Amino acid sequence: MLHCLLRRGCSPLLCLCLWTLLLPLVSLHQLDQHGRRSHSVRERPKLLLVSFDGFRCDYIDRVPTPNFNILIREGVMVEHVENAYITKTLPNHYSLVTGLYAETHGIVANEMYDPALNRSFSMETDSIYDSRWWEEAVPLWVTVQKAGGRSGAAMWPGSDVKIHGMFPNKYLPYNASVSFESRVERVIEWFSAPKEEAVDFGVLYWEEPDESGHKYGPQSSFMDRVIVEIDEKLGFLINELKKAGLYEKVNLIVTSDHGMTQLFADNIIELDEYVERDLYTWVDKSPVVGILPKEGKLDEVYNKLVDANPNMMVYKKEEIPEHFHYRHNVRIMPIIIEAKEGWTIVQNRSGPFMLGNHGYDNTLHSMQPVFVARGPAFRQNYVTTSMHSVDLYPLMCHILSIPPRPNNGSLLNVKDLLYPEPTAPAPTIPPRVQEYSYAPVVGSFLGVVMVLGFLVVYIRQVTLRQLPSLKHRSREMSQPLLQEDLHL
Ligand SMILES: [Zn+2]
Repeated sequence: MLHCLLRRGCSPLLCLCLWTLLLPLVSLHQLDQHGRRSHSVRERPKLLLVSFDGFRCDYIDRVPTPNFNILIREGVMVEHVENAYITKTLPNHYSLVTGLYAETHGIVANEMYDPALNRSFSMETDSIYDSRWWEEAVPLWVTVQKAGGRSGAAMWPGSDVKIHGMFPNKYLPYNASVSFESRVERVIEWFSAPKEEAVDFGVLYWEEPDESGHKYGPQSSFMDRVIVEIDEKLGFLINELKKAGLYEKVNLIVTSDHGMTQLFADNIIELDEYVERDLYTWVDKSPVVGILPKEGKLDEVYNKLVDANPNMMVYKKEEIPEHFHYRHNVRIMPIIIEAKEGWTIVQNRSGPFMLGNHGYDNTLHSMQPVFVARGPAFRQNYVTTSMHSVDLYPLMCHILSIPPRPNNGSLLNVKDLLYPEPTAPAPTIPPRVQEYSYAPVVGSFLGVVMVLGFLVVYIRQVTLRQLPSLKHRSREMSQPLLQEDLHL
């Protein structure tokens, strides 16, 4: 532009003044494109992760589930999700939000003993609020907040525990009596809040169909009604998202921690038949039992159990199959007993008996959870065959545009679920620190000074030309300009 003005015969001084005046405007335009210091900040990616506890992958095939079908048609489905061993609630919910196997994130079971802490943990007691159990890993809501984003959690396991000094920005303390609908309403509020208060990442947990699956067994016709009710709850969530204007903005992932398999009253293994109780402490429950032998009794207990019953596998810790990723943690007991599918391990038959259970080998079809997702990041009407549940973590970090922490998952395994990368860089969650630029102010100031300078020179020139007494000086001053005109 400057060159163009010069060619049109404008004086260099005038051009410089114009350019200086325009400079701040150019700077502002560039800042807009970067979306940080301007008013046109790009919308942050939004993500809501929902878990229906114990929702087995094939439940959606046994009864009509129109709301799941909507998400599949408008989004994606993964047919086989291999979750983390052991296929219990707490280990798998923590794997979903850390991308780590249980041996690495440290929540290795629903019932644990840590010899280093000399503490016991049970999901039935307040021991779950002891941060030390959870701090071998960093859940995604903490990572989102450290990256400058905001998160909200409705009853997700572990989300009401202070982990690495943080709670989610918004969360509900665990209370099983709070209805699904109330949880949804709170989540919608958090996503709908004014821009600086709105959450970017939400997690929502519901206890069913796990409770009914344990009670009736997955083969029971009672489960048909339970699955229909879950589908209706999903429909409620979809409608609330639509009513709030969030349905097209929020990436919605609906999954679960594990499946469920049928138990049979005759398929009971009683450990009292094989080993005396005073030789060991019973740490974790069926179907993967953690055995802590009394001091010096490891080999004795192991030898009594290893060939005792063909319907259970007995492993010393170092013998646990590599593919389970379930060895390297002090909270994994020195002996693990895994029941075959459909079998229950007890000390004797005095306890209550369930008709459904999970926790078995994570490669079993019955242990696999449902997985559907929909939203601006996801492809539409796309079904793929398999993923690992630990792959979800890098996928979620990618959607939220935050760097993932080291994890056991692979974004490459699941990237086909997403629309191809845009050519422009993905929006990042900017720090909430307000940034200021002095460039426009300085530029404007310089511009004004230059214009004033130009006006002073111009007025003096005009005045000198018009005053006869100043003719001589006027000639001297105009001489260089005349020479320049000749050259042109
Ligand atoms: Zn569960």
